[in-house]
Amino acid sequence: SKKYIATPSRTQELLKKYGFAFKKSLGQNFLIDVNILENIMQQAGITKETGAIEVGPGMGALTEQLAIHAEKVVAFEIDQRLLPILKETLADYPNIEIIHHDILEADVAEVIKSYFREGQDIHIVANLPYYITTPILMKLIRAHLPVTSLTVMIQKEVADRMAAVPNTKSYGSLSIAVQYYTEASVVLNVPKKVFMPQPNVDSSVLKLVMRKEPPVQVDNEDFFFELIQASFAQRRKTLRNNLNRFLQDKFEKQQVEVFLEEAAIDGSRRGETLTMEEFATLANVVYKELA
Ligand code: SAM
Repeated sequence: SKKYIATPSRTQELLKKYGFAFKKSLGQNFLIDVNILENIMQQAGITKETGAIEVGPGMGALTEQLAIHAEKVVAFEIDQRLLPILKETLADYPNIEIIHHDILEADVAEVIKSYFREGQDIHIVANLPYYITTPILMKLIRAHLPVTSLTVMIQKEVADRMAAVPNTKSYGSLSIAVQYYTEASVVLNVPKKVFMPQPNVDSSVLKLVMRKEPPVQVDNEDFFFELIQASFAQRRKTLRNNLNRFLQDKFEKQQVEVFLEEAAIDGSRRGETLTMEEFATLANVVYKELA
């Protein structure tokens, strides 16, 4: 029977053979548990008709499972040292394309055009490098890519923040930034022991399903996100207090009260109690007077 890459013994073997030393600075924690990967395939909705995009294939643990379950896999890897290893480990799978490129610099839309069928159901699946989780996810969900979903292993604390609902400790501007573009849910909590080397933090698998349209109507997106960030600037302070500070160069405090009233929002509430819809109403009311 075949020995998968995602096993402690095969991983050790490869590390030794290639004299590979993990780079912490590249967030290199490789998966050594096939059961977790099977679970991720299911959660991600990978089937033989789908296309898969991976960020950071490492030695190919997840890439191999994607190649088995999907029609086609394209993976972006930044670390040159991994290319010869991937060439060996993935030699049996003709449906994989490895691209040696920083995902933050890559033109992913162009890559999709080149490697996938027109209209193909495409899913992004990755065990992300934790040091740049948020920039990678924000780039991918804001790029208007023709992808159905993203299913990613990330730091548990960040997953919780991205999927958080109002009136919880984890809820903040990141929750709204992510949920404006996607429907977010934590689908799996993952023990440290499935990684080599083990990370210092707990991990979760987050699933993001791309929305076709934003859930709220926003007149100016940049201003909407600025106002949200300002509303969480000092979490313990009231919305009124944070808004006054944010708008102090443009409006009198009295005018801020008028905005709150027009939006039907009590200024003594804290930012963490507002829904995305309430933030949208408030941002639109203020933006109307700015524009
Ligand atoms: N997928 C492999 C696994 O699960 O065993 C490796 C996951 S490891 C957490 C993250 C991978 O992302 C590493 O292979 C690392 O070299 C790669 N990586 C780090 N920064 C990257 C970037 N900016 N663009 C592409 N890949 C990157």
